[in-house]
Amino acid sequence: MGQIRDNAARLLAGIPRGITVLAAAKARYASEILEVIDAGITDIGENYFQESRAMIEAIGDKATWHFIGHIQKNKVKHIVPLFDMIQTVDSLELAAMIDQHAAKHGKVMPVLVEVNSGREENKHGAMPGAVAELIMQMAVLPNLRVKGLMTMGPFLDDFEGLRPFFRQTRALFEEIGSQDIPNVRMEILSMGMSDSFPIAIEEGATMVRIGTMIFGQRPY
Ligand SMILES: *Cc1c(COP(=O)(O)O)cnc(C)c1O
Repeated sequence: MGQIRDNAARLLAGIPRGITVLAAAKARYASEILEVIDAGITDIGENYFQESRAMIEAIGDKATWHFIGHIQKNKVKHIVPLFDMIQTVDSLELAAMIDQHAAKHGKVMPVLVEVNSGREENKHGAMPGAVAELIMQMAVLPNLRVKGLMTMGPFLDDFEGLRPFFRQTRALFEEIGSQDIPNVRMEILSMGMSDSFPIAIEEGATMVRIGTMIFGQRPY
């Protein structure tokens, strides 16, 4: 008892001011998430809609809920009313669906565009070269608000190797921000996980997504 709270508090103490820590809570219990909230981390990430519904209903607005998993199109209608932000938008089709469902709920949905910074064929996320155009198209959707970018980067044994991908994503974030696209404020750059977050912060992340380091190894 209290181990998770201690991990979260210790992690927070070492994070520079102005950087948001999101707890990536897939496969965790509500009691574990409550320990994290108790330590002062109130941004919680969920990957699976089914799993998250009970959590969000139990914990509610003590936390800000981020959808960080891959979105199946048939789940959009469930995800939109439940979450406060969606970090994994990678196509105009998906953005348009989110916009439609947000309109039905009288909601303006904050989103991040997921970037496939490693340009890997089998990975989700928009290709870096397509992101600016995608955001310009998304900017006219009235019930959706682009707030920034999210990236995972390639899966590498040596996470120092992620640095160039984080750096390129930061450059893209700034470039798009400097274009002053109406309706678009580039405020959040979500990158870095348990192994790689110090590098991501050095390369300009404003939000890091941490699972294992807070909760311990995942049960599955
Ligand atoms: C699980 C997950 C994380 C956290 O990963 P850890 O290595 O456990 O810190 C971050 N981002 C996403 C999208 C995840 O699914």
